[in-house]
Amino acid sequence: MREDSTMKRVIPVMVPMPADRPYSYAVPEGMCVEPGSILRVPLGPREVAGVAWDGDGEPVEAKKLREISQVFECPPLSLEMRRFIEWVASYTLSPPGLVARMALRAPAAFDPEPPVEGLRLTANRPDRMTTARERVLHYAADGQAWTRSGLSHAAGVSSTVIDGLVAQGVFERVELPPQPVVPVPDTEFGRPDLTPDQRFAAGRLREKAGADHFSVALLDGVTGSGKTEVYFEAVAAALDRGKQVLILLPEIALTQAFLDRFHDRFGAKPAEWHSDLAPRKRERVWRQVAEGQVRVVAGARSALFLPFRELGLIVVDEEHDPAYKQEDRVFYNARDMSVVRGRLGNFPVVLASATPSLESRVNADQGRYERIVLSARFADAALPELRAIDMRRSPPERGGFLSPVLIEAIGRTIERREQALLFLNRRGYAPLTLCRVCGHRFQCHNCSSWLVEHRFRRQLVCHHCGHNEPSPEACPECGTLDHLVPCGPGVERIAEEVDRHFPEARTIVLSSDLLGGVKRLRLELEAIAAGEADIVVGTQLVAKGHNFPSMTLVGVVDADLGLANGDPRAAERTFQLLSQVTGRAGRSGKKSTGLLQTYQPQHPVMQALISGDAETFYEREIVERERAGLPPFGRLASIIVSAATRQEAEGHARALRRAAPPANEIEILGPAEAPLALVAGRHRFRLLVHGTRRADIQAYLRRLLEAGERPRGSVRVQVDIDPQSFL
Ligand code: ADP
Ligand code: ZN
Repeated sequence: MREDSTMKRVIPVMVPMPADRPYSYAVPEGMCVEPGSILRVPLGPREVAGVAWDGDGEPVEAKKLREISQVFECPPLSLEMRRFIEWVASYTLSPPGLVARMALRAPAAFDPEPPVEGLRLTANRPDRMTTARERVLHYAADGQAWTRSGLSHAAGVSSTVIDGLVAQGVFERVELPPQPVVPVPDTEFGRPDLTPDQRFAAGRLREKAGADHFSVALLDGVTGSGKTEVYFEAVAAALDRGKQVLILLPEIALTQAFLDRFHDRFGAKPAEWHSDLAPRKRERVWRQVAEGQVRVVAGARSALFLPFRELGLIVVDEEHDPAYKQEDRVFYNARDMSVVRGRLGNFPVVLASATPSLESRVNADQGRYERIVLSARFADAALPELRAIDMRRSPPERGGFLSPVLIEAIGRTIERREQALLFLNRRGYAPLTLCRVCGHRFQCHNCSSWLVEHRFRRQLVCHHCGHNEPSPEACPECGTLDHLVPCGPGVERIAEEVDRHFPEARTIVLSSDLLGGVKRLRLELEAIAAGEADIVVGTQLVAKGHNFPSMTLVGVVDADLGLANGDPRAAERTFQLLSQVTGRAGRSGKKSTGLLQTYQPQHPVMQALISGDAETFYEREIVERERAGLPPFGRLASIIVSAATRQEAEGHARALRRAAPPANEIEILGPAEAPLALVAGRHRFRLLVHGTRRADIQAYLRRLLEAGERPRGSVRVQVDIDPQSFL
């Protein structure tokens, strides 16, 4: 705290802006502020919510010093949370204000929830008794206050019956405290019968989650081995210790099934947190997490920035999933930052996956994490038998993409009244459209990418910036009509091919661009699980976490698709995705098959999948990474320079390179034009910074950015530590 000449108390306040450090504000006489307090402060012409930070406010000229407007009636952000915000900012080279902003994403939640109106029985009796009125009185006789809707629901009467009783003075209005968004979970509710393997794993996790110190467990179990059941025991142990729990899921909007399973185990649902929540609901969850009423949150990566008051366990399910990486404003990996939060808060973290990331595997091999293995599927469910279809030997017929071998297998599957899934990670109908006469290719005006035809919507769509235009009939280049041809398949085109072969079958296409959004997707997924489809054609949406009991065939349309790009994790990613997709088959004990259409059946990824020998694959990949000094054996960061013109972007990128200070443990590659050279009208260049494990890559980047020119005009510089995408 600092006193200026007028003896006003001045404190630092973190405002939700890309500022490097907190700003100083004066505390008005009589205002009670402590570090972590959430405040309303003037900022330029507006007022914003900020957080009282630690330490002294920097001296400010008296006439520039502004006063805090208000302290919200809200629990302060904990010291642990403030340290976490600073840590994430420093690690990702982001302004701490922007990280703090992620923790303040529920503006209306800073004021207490308004009380709810309730009704309580008085001594008055109604003028006339009816059976409906009798039922209401029967329920309300316990003297408790009820909400109007709760009472009408319980008594099974319409709310007009209740209004009538209120009018006669039979009920009086009282204020109820705000309703909890979810009931408190009961750790004794649905205790499972674990198999001996599961019991052992659960015991290890319970021991970790029952203790107040930092540890990381890697729960490594094949798909269907019961990882969820097992980590629920860690959740129970943390709850029994009086702690709050966070479960991170990569695709929360689609995990209705997860919420139901949690309910089966704990008799109540967890609070959900993701971008699809209604704003009012979000605010109530935020508030009740801060106040401690919500004990368990299941959420997307941003849930990591919720203001828990007594967080004691984080579970990261499908920890290898690329969806944990945010690539917008603050570039962070929620899996890695969960481990950081556990370390700062001194509590355990559980990472679960059937195909752990190489980073986590190496951490386990080197003893930093404890690896807990579940090697068999639960009950009589067997893993699917995987085979490659060599597309050079059994090519599809002209104009098609499915090999006769796969088509035959689909036919046999639906004859047995079982389900088949065809997986292709490409939305739309065709990834490229060209004119057969002049060769014109339809490209996005804003991006260096082809426009993808979406035939159901009759549009050409850019998957990078969202630009869309009606599907044309004539070539804009040569004007010829009816000579535009789609090149390559998307899921819609595969569905069309399936329809040609199996016109009687019920075929569903599932991808994230379905009209009707998340609600529709949930319904479709439920319908599939209930056996209401014979053939499902889907993108990676169908790969994640779903349990389709009668699915016995999974066909991967293009197993090579992910291998071609220049990503150092291409093999790992393909292995993970295809293991997960094929893992959708055979969950209920029926014999099941996975077929991989590939032009490279000898590729180590295909071999690992077919043989089921993940160990050898991991060993090879680990050796490769170590040899190349790539993560986790070395450090990587990208610097992405973008600008309105190519010249500006390239110029700034080159200048940065020239300004790079020399360093022993660090090399800089580039600048090179990014593979996606143009996105949403911005030209992009990339530099790659590669360091040894010992290198302090953040310190180096800070020096480099310090030494280079400030970005001017339209130039923007974005740093991506531990990049996952190299596009
Ligand atoms: P994973 O997350 O490893 O893929 P799940 O936890 O989803 O596996 O379990 C697969 C299926 O087996 C689920 O339907 C689950 O309810 C069931 N299951 C697993 N273990 C048990 C158990 N001990 N008792 C009853 N059902 C179980
Ligand atoms: Zn575009």
